[in-house]
Amino acid sequence: MVNTILKEKNTVKSMEDIAGKENVLSSYDELYAYSTDSTNITNPDEIAEAVVFPLNTQQVSKIMQYAYLNSIPVVARAAGTNVCGACLPKKGGIILDFARMNKIIEINKNNLFCIVEPGVVIEDLQKAVEKFDLFYPPDPSNLKVSMIGGSIGLSSGGPHTFKYGSTKDYIIDLEVVLSDGTVMHTGSSCSKDVTGYNMTQLFVGSEGTLGIVTKATVKLIPRPEAKRVMLAYYDSLEDTSKTVNEIISNLITPSVIDLIDQNTIKTIESFYPCGMLTDKAAALLIEIDGFKENLDKQYEKIIEICKRNNSSYIQTASTKEEEEKIWVSRRSSFGATAKLAPNVVTEDVVVPREHIVELVNGIKQICDKYNLKTCIMGHIGDGNIHPNIALDLRNPAELNNFKQAKKELFELALSLNGRLSGEHGIGCEKSEFIEKALDPNNLNCMKQIKKLFDPKNILNPGKIF
Ligand SMILES: Cc1cc2nc3c(=O)[nH]c(=O)nc-3n(C[C@H](O)[C@H](O)[C@H](O)COP(=O)(O)OP(=O)(O)OC[C@H]3O[C@@H](n4cnc5c(N)ncnc54)[C@H](O)[C@@H]3O)c2cc1C
Repeated sequence: MVNTILKEKNTVKSMEDIAGKENVLSSYDELYAYSTDSTNITNPDEIAEAVVFPLNTQQVSKIMQYAYLNSIPVVARAAGTNVCGACLPKKGGIILDFARMNKIIEINKNNLFCIVEPGVVIEDLQKAVEKFDLFYPPDPSNLKVSMIGGSIGLSSGGPHTFKYGSTKDYIIDLEVVLSDGTVMHTGSSCSKDVTGYNMTQLFVGSEGTLGIVTKATVKLIPRPEAKRVMLAYYDSLEDTSKTVNEIISNLITPSVIDLIDQNTIKTIESFYPCGMLTDKAAALLIEIDGFKENLDKQYEKIIEICKRNNSSYIQTASTKEEEEKIWVSRRSSFGATAKLAPNVVTEDVVVPREHIVELVNGIKQICDKYNLKTCIMGHIGDGNIHPNIALDLRNPAELNNFKQAKKELFELALSLNGRLSGEHGIGCEKSEFIEKALDPNNLNCMKQIKKLFDPKNILNPGKIF
């Protein structure tokens, strides 16, 4: 039965009635602040009517019933740090900010799972389960702020994806609110489950376009006992790629194997001087983890492989402080690039690993052609590269150059059997390219799934397609 709140077409008042006045924002300034995310796009014509901080599933369900009845768009938002315009209110409507649904409901050590609300910050989850000697591996580099709901929305990855997989590999059950307010569970807390279709995976990476996640059951694994980190420098990019291949063919799976190019090294060094070697073409950050007693042998073997593939200097770490120094330098890459120009646009393309050198060289050529300052880094083990492009988006010439470069970047990745995104998603930033990237029958099937779950197109409209 539809109650009076739901019938009334005054969005702000209805939201206040459902969630409480203290959990609703509606002034122009507040709404303007929510018209952007980390993508650097703000369009004053694309602004929400209300921002709501729901406190529980029942409220989300009521909000969706109201939105469904009145055909009002709803955009779920976690920390808003995505870089593909995935939570911009393209058609206005209601923004659901999950910052106040941030409880860790259960950590189940015996069954290796944890139940969380979508506003839990990823690092908080990692720290909480670490106390039980457990590990939640997905670690986007901004894990200190980004939240579980957003990482489910995008199936976020991070440095540890090479060994451990990305968010999609750790989500086993979701409580989702569908577009008409129906509450549904997609899976179970069993470690194995083939009871029907894998509905959970349908929602992971769906960018809030199929349903709103109000609870997630995440799989945990035992915490690795120890870690070792090193930074190996090279005079040629080709040698970094050969090193990665040889490490893998020696049956070693590093927990992290990331590439940092010379521009990134120079930029980090000018921002956060930490002794990185600015005259080298590239560096590999390699981390291994596991039982302490096995690590030394693997560490020595990797050093031997790096040297055999012409690494000209290897920075090893024998204390926690030295390890942290290597990690801080790597994690500073985005912030450092932000010093070069008013804006930084982070792109994200992925190719089969054998094409990594062609991809990186091709990106350099494209960015040189369009005169764009670019720092390239990424998860070389996964074939996933992030060009961080520093520019002034207010400058029409630079903006135009960037748009051309972006188009060529995606064409390059697709020509190398790659994809438009390894971990950052499509949002509205890449949607114009999706037809080129997908089998038309697959795309058609996706559109039908969208129609089934969201017949009125109110869930995060204007994203993916
Ligand atoms: C400096 C920096 C470093 C980054 N490093 C990485 C990295 O290493 N790896 C990586 O993969 N990404 C990275 N990112 C991209 C992004 O931050 C991550 O993907 C992150 O996990 C997104 O989380 P968020 O909480 O900010 O989500 P948001 O940006 O708020 O949302 C992301 C998507 O999820 C949807 N969503 C949010 N909550 C819900 C919900 N409850 N139900 C349904 N859908 C929902 C949103 O509608 C949106 O489509 C980085 C970004 C920055 C700025």
